[in-house]
Amino acid sequence: MKYYSIAIDGPAGSGKGTIAKALAAKLNYLYIDTGAMYRAVGLYFLKHNLEITEENVKNNLNNINVKLKYVDKELKVYLNSEDVSLEIRTEEASRASSKVSVFDCVREKLVSMQQKMALEANVIMEGRDIGTVVLPNANLKIFLTASVLERAKRRYKEQIEKGLEVSLDAIEKDIKERDYRDTNRENSPLKQAEDAILIDSSEMTIDEVVNKVLSLCKVGGKYEKNE
Ligand code: C5P
Repeated sequence: MKYYSIAIDGPAGSGKGTIAKALAAKLNYLYIDTGAMYRAVGLYFLKHNLEITEENVKNNLNNINVKLKYVDKELKVYLNSEDVSLEIRTEEASRASSKVSVFDCVREKLVSMQQKMALEANVIMEGRDIGTVVLPNANLKIFLTASVLERAKRRYKEQIEKGLEVSLDAIEKDIKERDYRDTNRENSPLKQAEDAILIDSSEMTIDEVVNKVLSLCKVGGKYEKNE
């Protein structure tokens, strides 16, 4: 492969996004948030008041155009040319994304877009199936996890800081449900790739995780920093 790729998978709230973004900035790689793409697809159904059923998903998929674009070094997500970068972050959009992600046709469409992106740049891609399905030949694979309570606390803090009213119990319940759906779905369930390195971040700071991954890159000698 011409370009280098780092795959980061793990459950909701494990810190994948934060870690992947920090690593991408350090290495000057392209950061690709695949969850944002599933969220944009889910948002389409919310916006059109359509129930997420197999039939509706199949009938509407061709009308759904998702794009990731960097604007002033920030990753923006577009749904049919509309910037939905903020809208996809609500709990409602989060639930919808997890629901649409069980359908084969949705996964096929997004996975093929993600594979194309990795052919065009050095990437740090984060999601659930990057090491197992999207980039099985990634140069480094990380499976990042943390306890349910720790993940719920992180999400709670994030939402409170945004001024949203949320309950820790509700978030914990939501994370458990999402974990269950993500790990038990038939198609590309959340699973650690055999050659992925497990990092449990429950007791680690962001810097500690970033440095750990960087040290793994160096040990493998498999990454190159873009100049
Ligand atoms: O990572 P994030 O929480 O933004 O992902 C939203 C949802 O999209 C997840 O709950 C999961 O169901 C789905 N997803 C997926 N495969 C990926 C990334 C996300 O199924 N590679």
